Amino acid sequence: MSEAVKKVCVIGAGVMGAGIAAQVANAGVPVLLLDIVPKDATDRDAVAKGAVAKMLKTEPAPFMSAAAARLVETGNIDDHLDRVAECDWIVEAIVERLDIKQALYARLEQLKRPGTAVSSNTSTIPLGHLVEGRSEQFRRDFLITHFFNPPRYMRLVEIVRGEHTDVAVAEKVEAFVDRFTGKRIVRAKDTPGFIANRIGTYWLAVAVNAALDQGLTVEEADQIGGRPMGVPKTGIFGLIDLVGIDLMPLLSKSLSATLPAGDPYFATVRDLPLVDRMIAEGYTGRKGKGGFYRLDKRPDGSRAKLAIDLASGDYRPEQKPAALPPAAEKDLAALVTVPGKVGDYAWTILGQVLSYAAMLVGEAADDVVAIDDAMKLGYNWKFGPFELIDRLGPGKLAERLRAEGRAVPAILETAGERSFYRVEGGVRQFLGRDGAYHNVPRAEGVLLLEDVKRRSAPVATSASAALWDVGDGVLCLEFTAKMNALDGEVAALIEQAVALVPGRFKALVIYNEGSNFSAGANLGLALFAVKAGAWGEVEKLVAAGQRAFKALKYAPFPVVSAPSGLALGGGCEVLLHSDAVQAHAESYVGLVECGVGLVPGWGGHGELLDRLAKLPTMPKGPMPAVMKAFELISTAQVSKSAAQAKEMGFLRASDGVTMNRDRLLADAKARALALVDGYQPPEPPVYRLPGESGRVGIAGAVADFHRKRVATDYDVVVAGRLAEVLTGGEADLVDVVSEEQLLALERAAFLESARDERTHARVESMLMTGKPLRN
Ligand code: NAD
Repeated sequence: MSEAVKKVCVIGAGVMGAGIAAQVANAGVPVLLLDIVPKDATDRDAVAKGAVAKMLKTEPAPFMSAAAARLVETGNIDDHLDRVAECDWIVEAIVERLDIKQALYARLEQLKRPGTAVSSNTSTIPLGHLVEGRSEQFRRDFLITHFFNPPRYMRLVEIVRGEHTDVAVAEKVEAFVDRFTGKRIVRAKDTPGFIANRIGTYWLAVAVNAALDQGLTVEEADQIGGRPMGVPKTGIFGLIDLVGIDLMPLLSKSLSATLPAGDPYFATVRDLPLVDRMIAEGYTGRKGKGGFYRLDKRPDGSRAKLAIDLASGDYRPEQKPAALPPAAEKDLAALVTVPGKVGDYAWTILGQVLSYAAMLVGEAADDVVAIDDAMKLGYNWKFGPFELIDRLGPGKLAERLRAEGRAVPAILETAGERSFYRVEGGVRQFLGRDGAYHNVPRAEGVLLLEDVKRRSAPVATSASAALWDVGDGVLCLEFTAKMNALDGEVAALIEQAVALVPGRFKALVIYNEGSNFSAGANLGLALFAVKAGAWGEVEKLVAAGQRAFKALKYAPFPVVSAPSGLALGGGCEVLLHSDAVQAHAESYVGLVECGVGLVPGWGGHGELLDRLAKLPTMPKGPMPAVMKAFELISTAQVSKSAAQAKEMGFLRASDGVTMNRDRLLADAKARALALVDGYQPPEPPVYRLPGESGRVGIAGAVADFHRKRVATDYDVVVAGRLAEVLTGGEADLVDVVSEEQLLALERAAFLESARDERTHARVESMLMTGKPLRN
C-alpha cells in the first residue's frame, strides 16, 4: 500500500467542504481549506476564513476541540492552489456543476503530484463525466467520496471507484476515511444519487404524495411512517423540516436529470404547489420560519405547536392521532393489514420503497448489506430496507406485489420464502444475488461485541450486565439495562469479574454497543427505594458501588474503559476508576449528579481530584484542583467530545481516542493487552485538601452566584455538601486525607442529599420530563 495520508486539501468551503475539513482536523491531521476569491474583497481568503469562523459558532459543533480548529489553514484557489503538491489527498466539495468541477480538475492535474488522490463529494454527477478529458494518471488517482451532512455526525461515506481508479490510491483514501474521519464505508456503483439519496429521495416522495392522496394529516403520516418502520422519531414530515424543505426540489431536479428513463422515480415525482409556496414564503423547515410543523409564541410567552393542514395549506394546532393498534406498533405484517388508512398508508410506503430498494441490488450496490448500511447510516433508519423486508416477510411482500399485478424484483424472486439475513454457526449471513448465503463482511481489524454475542455464550450475567470473552485473554464487561443505567447488579458483576480474571484472563475491557455508554445510576430505582424509606438499601447501594469501583481500580490486572455517547454520573466514575480509557471521539463525559440534587457517590470526587491535580497545566497547591473539580461538578458540565473531556480533565492526556465507532472494541482490547506486561495496580493517593478555609472561599463564590440568581436556593445547599467533600471535611491545610476518609465523606454527603425532599423533586422531574428542575 502507498504512503499514508498526512495532509489533506479540501477545495470548496461550503456546508460540506468546511465540515469535511473540520472532521479531518478532528482526527489531528492538518488540512488546507480553499475557496474562491470573493469579488472586491480586501481579504482574498475571506470565504474560507468565514467558513471556519462560522463553524466555531455552529451547534452541534463541527469541531471537537479548539486545537482541531487550529489545524485548518485557509486560503484561496487563485493564490494557493499550487500547495496541493504538499497534500496526499485532495477533496473537491465545490458547487454541484459539472463544468466548474471539470475546470478545477484541469488545473489540479497540472499542480498535484502523481499518486495524490483526488475525490469529489458530488451527490449526483457520475464519475465517468467528471474525469472526461483528464489524463490517464488523473483518472487513476480519482474517485468519489460522498460524505453526508453534517460530516462530523453522519457515519456514512459512499465511495465510488471508477473503472480506471488505481486500487492502491483508493485503498489509501478508504483507510483514511475509515480510521481518521471515522466513517463506515459503503461501496456504491457509479449510478445517479448512489444508494442512500436515491432511495431516500424516492421514499420521501412516495410518503408525501401518499399522505396527500390518501387524506392523512402530517401527524398521522409521521405516526405510521415513523417509529413502527424504525424511522427516526421525526417521522417523514418532521424529517423534511429538519433537513430543509428547500432541498426537496433540488434533489428531485438533479435525480430527474440523471436517472435512467423508466426508473420508478419518474412515476412518483410531481409538482407540489404546497411545497413551492412554503419555500417561497420562507417556510423552509426548522432553519426557516417553520415547516410542516411550527412553534408559535403565545402572548404569555408559552409555545404552541402547530402543524400544516395539507389540504388547505393553513396552520392549525397540532392534533395527536389515535394510538395505533398495539400489534401494528411492532409487527410490520400487522401494520400493513390494519384496515383503513393506517394499513393503506403503511403498505403504500413499504410496498413501493422496499421494492425500489430491492430493484437496486446489482444496479446501485453489489449486495443487500451495502443498501441496508447506507440507509441506516445515511438516513438514520433503525433497520435497512432488507431488514424491514425480513420483518414483513419476503414471501408476503412478493405475494402482495404479484396479487396487485406489480413487478417483483429479481432479488425477491431469488429469496422466495427465505429471509435476507440469517445466523449460521454463530455468524450473520446475507442472501447474495447468486441465491447463496454469505458472511456479512466486516472491515479488517473490526471487532464487534454483537458478533461475539452471536457466536458465544456469556461468561457470566446479572440482571443489568454481562461478561463476554472477546479473545486473546480479554474479558469484556457489558452494561445491559435501559440507557445502560448502573445499579447493584452491575456492582455485583464487577466484583465477580475482578475475582474471575486472574488465572483465566489477562485484562478487562468495559464496553458496550448501546448508543450511550451509560447515562448513570438508575435513578428510578433509587427514588423508589428512598420513597419506600428503604434507607438500608440506599446505603448498601452506595457502599457497594464504591467498593466495586475501587476493586476495579486496584485489581491486579489492567482495566480499560471504552465509552461512546454519554458517560454520565456513575458512567463517568467507571472511566475515572480505569487504568486507561480508549474513548470513541463522540464521547460526552461529565459528573452531572448535582443537576438532580445529588453529589457523585461512587468515588468520583477523589478520582477527579487526583486527575486534575496531575494535569500539567494545574497550578500547585491544594486549592486550584479543588476549585476546578467544584466548578465541573457543581455546574454539571459535560464534554462535547472525547478531546474536550481531556481538556476538562475527565480523561488523561495519555488516553486513546478512536474516530471510528466500529473500531472501538479492537482498540480498547489492544490498549488493555499493551498494559499487561509488568502491570502494577496504582498506589492509593493521599489528598492534601484545603479544609475549612477552602470551604469558606467556595461558599463566598456560591453566595455571589446566588445573589446574581445563577444559583437557586437548593443549588447553594447542594454546593455546600459538594464543597464539604472536596475540601476534605474537617481536615486542615496540613492534614492529609486518605482515600477511605474521602469516600466516607462522599457517602455521607450523598446520603444527606438523597434524604432531602428537594432532591426527590428534582429526580422526579428528571424522570418525568427529562428536564432539570431549578428549585
Ligand atoms: P455550498 O454551496 O454550501 O458550497 C460550495 C462552495 O464551493 C462555496 O463556498 C463556493 O464559493 C465554492 N466554490 C464554487 N466554485 C468554486 C471553485 N471553482 N473553486 C473553489 N471553490 C468554489 O455546497 P455544498 O452543499 O457544500 O456542496 C458541495 C458539494 O457536496 C456538491 O458537490 C454537493 O452536491 C455535495 N454534497 C452536498 C451535500 C449537502 O447536504 N449539502 C451532501 C453531500 C454532498
